[in-house]
Amino acid sequence: MKVGIDLGTTYSTVAKYDKKTSRPEIINNKFEKELTPSVICFLDNGEILIGEDAKDMQAGGAGTIAAAFKRGMGDNSFTVEANGKVYTAEELSAMLLKKLISDAEEKSREKIDSVVITVPAYFNDFQRTATIRAGEACGVKVMKIINEPTAAAISYGYNKESNKTVLVYDLGGGTFDVTLVRVNKGNIQVLGTDGNHILGGKDWDAAIVKFVAEQFLEEYGVDPRDDEPTKNELIVACENYKKVLTKTDRVTIQIKYEGYTGKYTLTKEQFDMRTQFLLNATKDVCMRLFSDLGTTWADVDEILLVGGSTRMPQVTKFLEMLSGKPVIDHSDTDLAVAKGAAITSEFYCSSSTGVRDVQITDVTAHSLGVLSKSPGGDRFINEIMIKRNSKVPSSVRKPFKIEPGNLTNVIDVFTLQGESKMPLDCYVLARVVITGFYNTGDGEVIDIEYTYDDNGVVKVSAFQGGEALQVDAEPVPDDISWMGGSPDSISSSAPIAKNVVLCIDLSRSMRNSLDEVRNVVRDFVISVADENTKFGLIGFGDKVGIMRDMTADPNTIVTALDGIKVNVYGRGTDASPMGTAASMLSNRPGGKMIVVLTDGIWGKRDFAVNEAVMCRNSKIAVVGVGIGEADIGFLKQISTVEEGAMFTTLDRLGETFSTIATALSTGSMGMRESAVGGARLGSAQVKGRLR
Ligand code: ADP
Ligand code: MG
Repeated sequence: MKVGIDLGTTYSTVAKYDKKTSRPEIINNKFEKELTPSVICFLDNGEILIGEDAKDMQAGGAGTIAAAFKRGMGDNSFTVEANGKVYTAEELSAMLLKKLISDAEEKSREKIDSVVITVPAYFNDFQRTATIRAGEACGVKVMKIINEPTAAAISYGYNKESNKTVLVYDLGGGTFDVTLVRVNKGNIQVLGTDGNHILGGKDWDAAIVKFVAEQFLEEYGVDPRDDEPTKNELIVACENYKKVLTKTDRVTIQIKYEGYTGKYTLTKEQFDMRTQFLLNATKDVCMRLFSDLGTTWADVDEILLVGGSTRMPQVTKFLEMLSGKPVIDHSDTDLAVAKGAAITSEFYCSSSTGVRDVQITDVTAHSLGVLSKSPGGDRFINEIMIKRNSKVPSSVRKPFKIEPGNLTNVIDVFTLQGESKMPLDCYVLARVVITGFYNTGDGEVIDIEYTYDDNGVVKVSAFQGGEALQVDAEPVPDDISWMGGSPDSISSSAPIAKNVVLCIDLSRSMRNSLDEVRNVVRDFVISVADENTKFGLIGFGDKVGIMRDMTADPNTIVTALDGIKVNVYGRGTDASPMGTAASMLSNRPGGKMIVVLTDGIWGKRDFAVNEAVMCRNSKIAVVGVGIGEADIGFLKQISTVEEGAMFTTLDRLGETFSTIATALSTGSMGMRESAVGGARLGSAQVKGRLR
């Protein structure tokens, strides 16, 4: 069976589409209630209560209560600790979903295998993927994530024959959302959405709190808001008074504090007057959406109310006055979202159902950008790729230029979600590393493509000359404060991968040095090893042998070092290892270094020098370490940087490798440019010139 689930902040609801009646039906919970509280209670004895039972405990103050955890979705710092375990919002949501599903299965005596879950339109990528994961953790298929206002519009419009533009006005407990939707014979097209996510029913409660507290202060000289428990009680009481005022013309509010008792009457008119500014704030959001879309009230046929706070009569009055349009008093205010999700699960999830010729087009609530440099190059900016209110799925490809002279072979792409030009005002959604492109330093152009999929989840790909490039996800670093600074000041932002290939001369002359070489190189590998550093090991003589391909596991290299012997690749030194090493390093993100350790004079020097030039062009640092008979002039030729040629003695070999280890960690010795930062993309000055 397929169901739709409204996974709400305060209450959740499950609905299914009933084919017999051709209508969405709510599946009641075990208590025969349509709404299940989104509350979890962890009892001290380890028992976990979910829903109605948990809500009862909440009132009684027993156990640890998790409520309103939807607000923490996608935010790893939001946790609830109970009985020694730490739960994220995603885990709590999964527990709640599991309960909703099992209750619904029991009630309907049918197994649920697929679900549609609703989310607020403003939910960002983190919050959406967290919701999908929470659903999957329950062992069901999450067919789709849909926006709550869209679901409400579907529930209202799926069986309407008319062609109408509907404004969905969703005023909940802590958020306000407005969405403009075109409904045409079951086809639902979202035109745009906007919201204010700190505006909601709680602000109306606060207005009553203020009314009461100010009078109390005037009367008795003390402010009940100064005492935290009294203040919280007052807030809860005022929410109830607010609800009473939707049905009556006045309420009398009584409050006790510091031995005094205050008694105040609030009329509906006073309440409406004192909260007018809040309604005006919702109007501002509507106007902003209109100006974004180039529409006016004249384009709206009807207004659809969603959310508990639209029960206040002032809302309907205000909207009728403002718009001159009919306000639909949806008796389903609490259930419309779940019903819309149920209809979606039946008709809008797979194009192959063929049951109805309908479709739904939604939009994205947030713009999506890429971290880029300002045209002047003096600061980082959010370069918007996909504007908010673009249809989803949608996809945009834009050319970006690597700064001329920058020879990097790695590009770091940071995906930003938000409207601001300032990166730190946006969410840093993801980071990917692009590799495998050619770069001659002439300002190469890379096309970056952003895609918003059906669920509003983001993907990044990259192309050069039409060919897809390798794109790997990397974790977003914890510290992103550098995005607020100047691009030039970046010297050591995120740790970037380092790759080191060790090439050891195994010709016959090395036989007396080998034990010391083995020890020194082993110590070097162990001291340098970390999760960002990969090593490769090459032995060479008259031939070149890869002893270990690139690995981040130092033990693998140490084991290989234990087994090195002279003469296995021939007795002389007719081969050059740099070409082989370079191929092991190609297409790897991060800094690259080849360390060549030798004690003799090579047979094919010109060939070796050519290989070294190729390495330099590929931004690979080559360090030549010579002992015994080695030729310092030749080592200088194959080294890509001045200080990279080191002639030493066997007993000082350890010191030499310490120098290399330091160079690796500080990014000196030619590793800096390629090791740190990769490329920061230039702003898209090339826009339009390319295609
Ligand atoms: P959310 O989706 O944000 O959880 P809801 O849509 O369930 O919120 O709405 C909750 C809000 O609706 C709360 O602020 C609550 O006080 C308010 N509310 C519920 N019933 C009424 C009512 N009869 N009159 C006024 N406000 C109400
Ligand atoms: Mg809601």
